[in-house]
Amino acid sequence: MNHYIVMQGLTYEEDKEAGLIWSSQQDKGGKTPHSWARVKEVKQDDRIFHCVKGKIVAISVATSDSEKAVNPVGTTEEQGVLVKLQYFELERPLTIKKYFNELRTLLPVKYAAFKQNGDGNQGYLYPCNEELAIKFLHIISDTNIYQVEEEQLELAIGTVVHTERNSLIPVITETEAAARRKMRVANEKFKALVAPYWNHKCALCGIELPELLRASHAKPWRECTSKERLDPYNGLLLCRNHDALYKQGYIAFDGTGLIHISDRIPSMNYAMYDIHAKMRVLRTENNKPYFRWHRKYVFQ
Ligand SMILES: [Zn+2]
Repeated sequence: MNHYIVMQGLTYEEDKEAGLIWSSQQDKGGKTPHSWARVKEVKQDDRIFHCVKGKIVAISVATSDSEKAVNPVGTTEEQGVLVKLQYFELERPLTIKKYFNELRTLLPVKYAAFKQNGDGNQGYLYPCNEELAIKFLHIISDTNIYQVEEEQLELAIGTVVHTERNSLIPVITETEAAARRKMRVANEKFKALVAPYWNHKCALCGIELPELLRASHAKPWRECTSKERLDPYNGLLLCRNHDALYKQGYIAFDGTGLIHISDRIPSMNYAMYDIHAKMRVLRTENNKPYFRWHRKYVFQ
């Protein structure tokens, strides 16, 4: 199951009524922007977050794979790609800018649906990685389910039943469970692939206890293609301490495998974090592009 974010403006109501999204595949210059082409990738059971004027207003489930079709709600006979959807509208939309501090770090460098100031990007369909999808689902369930329930309890109107909300609960639960499962299965597989390359030890300090070891992605999950997520060269085996430092961009490795330590850690504290300026990992040629990516975009 994959997740997407669709930017809908004036077409939202009509599309919702018709139970679909549709995109042309050629702009005026005869090109296909990536956010239009992506509609072709949507498969049955994928989930889409619908964004209208800076707010997520609905979640939908694809009821079939994408297909070629003229726009059923359009006025011309233009060919494009259509996905049939079951829409679940939110009673309380999620305003992106209100939660942007929590969302910002989950946006990818490439193909992000939102700019660094929280405005939506121009375009149609964007990918939504699992971490971002789970964050959306948490906010949506807090505001649309738990807060509403608390308010109803306070007002002693427990018998009031919102059918919209009742249908939303299973969609949220299933979507989150599937996203978590996908990440867990992939991360377990990644660790099994990565560990032998590092002799089942932390690449920096040599810790061997399996419970303390993590397979750390150099190019993070949110940025990766499915292939990159499972590429054993896209990462290294680290203990929890060094994994956290690497993931948060406090340390990185250059082409020779030498550690780079962020200015955010004063050198007098290096020992406390079990790092020092001459540390080195035994990287291979295949690690290099991933390590470079990490140093450029994650290291701060
Ligand atoms: Zn370590």
